[in-house]
Amino acid sequence: MTSFDIMEKANLKHIALDAEDAALFSLNEDLLLKAKSIKYSILPKLNILLEETLSRIRKIYNIEVLNENSIIHSAPNFREKRDSKLKIDYTYAFIGFGGSRQPIWEGFKRKDNQPTKIIPYIIGYWFDKYGLTLLFDNLRYIFKFTKETYELYFDFLIENVEYIQTIQCISEMSPDFYVSDENNKTNMTIKPFTEMLKEYKDNYYYYQLCFRKRIHFPLDYNDFNFIVNSFVIFFPIYYSLLQIAQGKKNNFRELISQVNIYDLYKEYPYSENNDSTKVNGDVIPKIDETKFVKAGIRWQVFERDDFKCVSCGKSASDGAILHVDHIIPRSKGGGDTMENYQTLCHLCNIGKSNKSNKNLREKCR
Ligand SMILES: [Zn+2]
Repeated sequence: MTSFDIMEKANLKHIALDAEDAALFSLNEDLLLKAKSIKYSILPKLNILLEETLSRIRKIYNIEVLNENSIIHSAPNFREKRDSKLKIDYTYAFIGFGGSRQPIWEGFKRKDNQPTKIIPYIIGYWFDKYGLTLLFDNLRYIFKFTKETYELYFDFLIENVEYIQTIQCISEMSPDFYVSDENNKTNMTIKPFTEMLKEYKDNYYYYQLCFRKRIHFPLDYNDFNFIVNSFVIFFPIYYSLLQIAQGKKNNFRELISQVNIYDLYKEYPYSENNDSTKVNGDVIPKIDETKFVKAGIRWQVFERDDFKCVSCGKSASDGAILHVDHIIPRSKGGGDTMENYQTLCHLCNIGKSNKSNKNLREKCR
């Protein structure tokens, strides 16, 4: 077998997410197949998004995000249990990065004086039946912290409010907040953002700020390119807040001065000839989600082929992105049947166009 190292790594052009990927999260007949499909098909695609994001961040900000303070978070986490059937139902997949639980966040003081081992912030890609969301989530445990800690966070937002709002506009990350006082009473009126932040700060309101950008199906190269750039543009907010949590001075202004939006889009342009639908095979499902209790044909084909490319044998753990392919193309009379489908990796899928209509699955056995 050829080593995958010398083969082309999968990139944004090799992935697509569509209605059948979304409907997977509504599947309730076969939870084990659902879990395997998320693990071997959905998470590897999200992982490509994250790798691309990390590489753009490295390029733009010259920052290595992953270190002892900031680590990859991914969900769901699968624990393989032999014999026992999977009982957990998965409704989403997530991959991103956030604070690590290991360091004690010097900038954040807890009321009970215990060391702070929580994950202060998290940012990443959330995929569920509604679409792909770029999500930033802040302090969920705000009442555990002292008022001074709470103020640090607000001071950063207030001091940089105009930049933050600009970043929000460009990245299309809309804020989504939950505000209440200690008695869980919500009191929100419409006022200028800065005034609002000051009011919350002064009153020590519980304030959970999320920023989200959601894109809907089907998702192809241009959508992925857009959401990765949004992540890169939003990144200084995450990074500066993490610096504050570490008790360090933040370099927010310096970071934002390094992003030239025009250059970013010039470097990572939209594709005019978007051929991701071709790359993704020609199984374009129509899903009635409300009735989606049975596994879609894509997942059945993957399962039959053991989540491996029938041509080269590679799987997600080798870095392969799996596609379902017609053995005999539709144009040549091939049918939409299990027998006429096979699992191919992103490379064999492209290469296949040069070959004749070999039944690769038969050949492999
Ligand atoms: Zn292959």
